[in-house]
Amino acid sequence: MSISKIDQRKIFYMFPFGILIDGRRLRMLDLMCDSMKLIVLGSGTCVPSLNRNAPGYYLEAGDRRILLDCGSGTLLQLERAGKSYRDIDAVFITHTHPDHFADLMPLIHALRATPGFKRAKTLFIVAPSLFIEYYDRAIATVLGRPREFSIQRIRMPEEMDFRPFNVRAAKTVHSQDSIAYRFEYGGRAIVFTGDADYDKGIVDLSRDADLLIADCSFPDANKARGHLSARQCGLVAREAGVKKLLLSHIYPADTPDIDRVREGREEFGGEVVLAEDLMEISI
Ligand SMILES: [Zn+2]
Ligand SMILES: [Zn+2]
Repeated sequence: MSISKIDQRKIFYMFPFGILIDGRRLRMLDLMCDSMKLIVLGSGTCVPSLNRNAPGYYLEAGDRRILLDCGSGTLLQLERAGKSYRDIDAVFITHTHPDHFADLMPLIHALRATPGFKRAKTLFIVAPSLFIEYYDRAIATVLGRPREFSIQRIRMPEEMDFRPFNVRAAKTVHSQDSIAYRFEYGGRAIVFTGDADYDKGIVDLSRDADLLIADCSFPDANKARGHLSARQCGLVAREAGVKKLLLSHIYPADTPDIDRVREGREEFGGEVVLAEDLMEISI
């Protein structure tokens, strides 16, 4: 959804307290906002690949810069995308599987030890409870508490105001502590399933989202428990009424990756895109 600057001004004078677009009430402040920018840093999995890095996504809106998951290689991918680890405000982790968080320790180490760089702002780590416990046990004990800046750990509640985002989470059918996130900004929404199998919760969280980044681990013929197949990604997208479906978390398979787009389209009539590393999407 894009509204030109002139239109925004017109709308402001006509409806100072907000308007309804597509049935959603938008505050004027939201209408003035820029878009959310998403960069796929890793469209792959735990399987080492020269084409698909382990899971990691960069999300930017207003003055916030966030990592969604942070698998191994994420920091290098961030450099390749022309973004800097120095600017990251928060890391949102979906679950305690190493392909989704392995670069968190290197990130904190780099923030502390880059010559000539002094980090001042707080680093937020948002995650399910079990991951926070793991962090305290295994990561904080190695790194200690940085003196230069603070690290704030947040056990992700169902909903949280993380300005300028409103963030919601839902448990996923995958591992004991796995969750999916929904980021809302400027009247738009991006949902990231993390690792997830089909269930009603993921459909509800994805309701009317502008972009659904879905765990598309396998084609339908190789469907594995705890992960969506390509066809199921399409099913979630259709049932939730999302606008755009991005198939990611791609395990190697016998069939070409692009075949998953066809499978997704058999269920979902909207736009279906196969994620590639360093792909950028504005929402
Ligand atoms: Zn995974
Ligand atoms: Zn996993």
